[in-house]
Amino acid sequence: MEKSHDKIWDNCLSIIQDNVSTQSFKTWFEPIRPVKLAGSVLTIQVPSQFFYEWLEEHYITLLKKTIKKELGSEGKLEYSIIMENTFSSAKPYTVKIPTSNRKDVRNPSVSMPIDLNSKNTIRNPFIIPGLKKVNVESQLNPNYSFENFVEGDCNRLARSAGFAVSQKPGGTAFNPLLIYGGVGLGKTHLSHAIGLQIKHLHPGKTVLYVSSEKFTHQFIDAVKNNNQNDFIHFYQMIDVLIIDDVQFFAGKDKTQDVFFHIFNHLHQTGKQLVLTADKPPVEMQGMEQRLLSRFKWGLSADLQVPGLETRIAILEKKLYIDGIDLPREVIEYLAYSITTNVRELEGAYISLLAQASLNKKAITLELAKQMIDKFVKNTAREVSIDYIQKVVCDYFDLPIELLKSKTRKREVVQARQIAMFFAKNMTKSSLATIGMHCGGKDHATVLHACRTVNNLMDTDKRFRAYIDELEKKLSIQ
Ligand code: ADP
Ligand code: MG
Repeated sequence: MEKSHDKIWDNCLSIIQDNVSTQSFKTWFEPIRPVKLAGSVLTIQVPSQFFYEWLEEHYITLLKKTIKKELGSEGKLEYSIIMENTFSSAKPYTVKIPTSNRKDVRNPSVSMPIDLNSKNTIRNPFIIPGLKKVNVESQLNPNYSFENFVEGDCNRLARSAGFAVSQKPGGTAFNPLLIYGGVGLGKTHLSHAIGLQIKHLHPGKTVLYVSSEKFTHQFIDAVKNNNQNDFIHFYQMIDVLIIDDVQFFAGKDKTQDVFFHIFNHLHQTGKQLVLTADKPPVEMQGMEQRLLSRFKWGLSADLQVPGLETRIAILEKKLYIDGIDLPREVIEYLAYSITTNVRELEGAYISLLAQASLNKKAITLELAKQMIDKFVKNTAREVSIDYIQKVVCDYFDLPIELLKSKTRKREVVQARQIAMFFAKNMTKSSLATIGMHCGGKDHATVLHACRTVNNLMDTDKRFRAYIDELEKKLSIQ
């Protein structure tokens, strides 16, 4: 019986699923649609050129094996690529700038530390000891939820520990839970998510989010006004205390001291502490030893820079939340170009939307490229393909026209392959673009060139010396 393309592709997917990570599967295989089966040729539809090249570069062996398993040794795969450029003129994107969820709660404008019952006068913002039931504003941003926090390899441990804590605050071994990592990687977001989830699951618990700076200022004010005890009592009645960026306690001995006492009280009474920091406890400077040792009592979980798949997933999540549609290739370009952290990725995305709406332009790959070029100007500037070609040609004493021509002369072929190799490694150009600049070749030729150069580097010492020398020339432009 003839099998349909759907059935065949389904079978392929179940093999693939066993061989790649969940995230890769979601990013690179779920969007694929099988379109037809003609003899032993299966055609699949992929969302973009970039997508196709990524498959070819990273999953070709797996795909080949899988297809052969399903369709026999004659089995072949063909791609059909959705061309998104074409509809930018036909169907312009309507863009709205998201405002609702961009509220910056890291610096809430309330000048009072905590909103207390109206019964309390403004001059004394702290709770009177003994008075238990107090309505504490948690200072949480509803947008920083677990739902909006994309899971990836970069954050799996921290996220799941956070989730566990939110199920049973104070009742897990993760107390304190210390989330650490560089800027813009989601520490604040995740700590809010824990707080929100606790409020949702345990409405009776008093949850409070506070930045370490704010905590410090409140303490200084309390000292000034001579009501330190109220300050301490207030914090001691919180059920879940979330303190963001504890590294700012460094060098502030008095604040550390008072925090130490609050910490002990909360910990002893089974209350939950969630802390964030920009580095692990062992690397924190200017922090009292006894405090550091307490930070290590529970779990320290790090957030790392997200990989490409997670960056794409994060962008897609934002688009979904904002109700915006962007061409797949634009999403990929953004995610591919901005590698530093999530905040910068969001920044680039927001500027792109702003540009498009201000200039009433459709969001195309072209616009994204122009914008990203401006955006990443300050970071290391990437070399251009032209520049690579020039350096390689100078080195081998070849006219650059030859390299850009279609000639198959041996010495030109090798120089061209080397130029392709460097273009692949040192620029963000797609394989197709590199090929186009180097004698109108296709992306497969570029891939082949990169493999050849890699092989030669491993086997031929002289060749390796060429490459090393060229690399030096290219890096000191
Ligand atoms: P940090 O506190 O580590 O500097 P933030 O929590 O402020 O970083 O995160 C910066 C931005 O990136 C926020 O807008 C946040 O929502 C977003 N972000 C970070 N990680 C993720 C993620 N895994 N999923 C979705 N958004 C994220
Ligand atoms: Mg933060």
